[in-house]
Amino acid sequence: MAENKMLKFVSVPRDMPEKRLATARREDFQEIYAEFARDKAAEQSSRCSQCGVPYCQTHCPLHNNIPDWLRLTAQGRLQEAYEVSQATNTFPEICGRICPQDRLCEGNCVIEQSGHGTVTIGSVEKYITDTAWEEGWVKPILPARERPESVGIIGAGPGGLAAADYLRRAGVQVTVYDRYDRVGGLMTYGIPGFKLEKEVVDRRTKQFEESGVEFVLNCKVGEDISFDAIRGKHDAVMIATGVYKSRDLPESDHDGVVRAIDYLTASNRKNFGDEVPEYDSGELNAAGKKVVVIGGGDTAMDCVRTAIRQGAESVKCLYRRDRSNMPGSQREVANAEEEGVELVWLSAPKGFECGAQGVKGVHVHKMRLGTPDATGRRMPEKIEGADYLEEADLVVKALGFEPEDLPTLWGVEGLEVTRWGTVRAEFGTGATSLDGVFAVGDIVRGASLVVWAIRDGRDSASAIVNYLDQSASAGVAAE
Ligand code: SF4
Repeated sequence: MAENKMLKFVSVPRDMPEKRLATARREDFQEIYAEFARDKAAEQSSRCSQCGVPYCQTHCPLHNNIPDWLRLTAQGRLQEAYEVSQATNTFPEICGRICPQDRLCEGNCVIEQSGHGTVTIGSVEKYITDTAWEEGWVKPILPARERPESVGIIGAGPGGLAAADYLRRAGVQVTVYDRYDRVGGLMTYGIPGFKLEKEVVDRRTKQFEESGVEFVLNCKVGEDISFDAIRGKHDAVMIATGVYKSRDLPESDHDGVVRAIDYLTASNRKNFGDEVPEYDSGELNAAGKKVVVIGGGDTAMDCVRTAIRQGAESVKCLYRRDRSNMPGSQREVANAEEEGVELVWLSAPKGFECGAQGVKGVHVHKMRLGTPDATGRRMPEKIEGADYLEEADLVVKALGFEPEDLPTLWGVEGLEVTRWGTVRAEFGTGATSLDGVFAVGDIVRGASLVVWAIRDGRDSASAIVNYLDQSASAGVAAE
């Protein structure tokens, strides 16, 4: 009888790809995990117990068929594993790198729950797709037939690109408009290279171009082209702009107090080799500075770890709740601490101490956790008389993002938004209040994960194909 290659979780311990030493990581912006060797990927995949009801898959926003591609990897059938993984995901190699697996698939793996340590799903996913690229299995999209209809997608981030992928698979013509000069949205300018090296995004961009996707870059809707003009050029339009308006602190407009999006974009641009005067002047550069980052999400972790690599004298992160109540990934917190970041829990900014040269420190309220709010999270409360001054000469505000006011910005009438300013769109299709206009990702959900944007783009692409089919049928009937 053939040897059962699976269910090895009792005899094979969990193992991650080798992580570079923190001292070496601090010196550059390269990714911190090495790649699995082929045998290691097979060995780690073999730990999966092939659950009849796979919680890893249920808790994956894309419902990736994880048990199947783990089994195929354990059996050495890597090309088939890649085919299964790419069927539901435009960017498996990116999800493998940046998804907070500890909160999604891996956090819900039954082997993790039984105390044996999760199957290392994310690392295997990355390995499969990186191997597919090396072996030349990733090809430009070649639809079975080309359709005459075109879709204009506003936003070249993960949601828009996922939609472009599935629309091209269906033969629809696709043009993607973006305000930036490179494709990828936050994957290019928001997420640092130590989590996602930019070549990984670039090779996908080339694949899209070779698949017939047209990119119109440096194009601001409402300035360089009107929304109505885009609508007039295409049979359907998708809004996938993401959310770029930073949440702010009151009275925080001081020299040396900067927004996370500006700080991270400058760092990523510098690493691309672009001219970045704000970096060169020191305004958006942490070298030699005492840096304080305010916030507890993944963007805050990206900022603190960027500051370490820029050569900051010290890096602290202020968060108003405690470790177990922070929204960011615990894995990212652990990486940050290893690299020398100090997390200052139960601390909220009260104001800023400034001098002639700019900010000198942050006045901090010490907090404690009180009773739970409506969501069940314990509310932070101030401890009277425990305020102190945290010295700083660069403060980065990483408090999250809000939607821009698109109807005003773009001069669009009839595009309904919610009371939070997000575009009102139908669940599952992304259909908005305007005929033939769909919306996906953060501009609908509010700031969320890349993987949810991919899911929205995929679902909405399918709804757009249905819409185009119905429009074509209606056109034939009217003739
Ligand atoms: Fe395998 Fe864990 Fe998924 Fe079960 S939950 S199928 S053990 S990866």
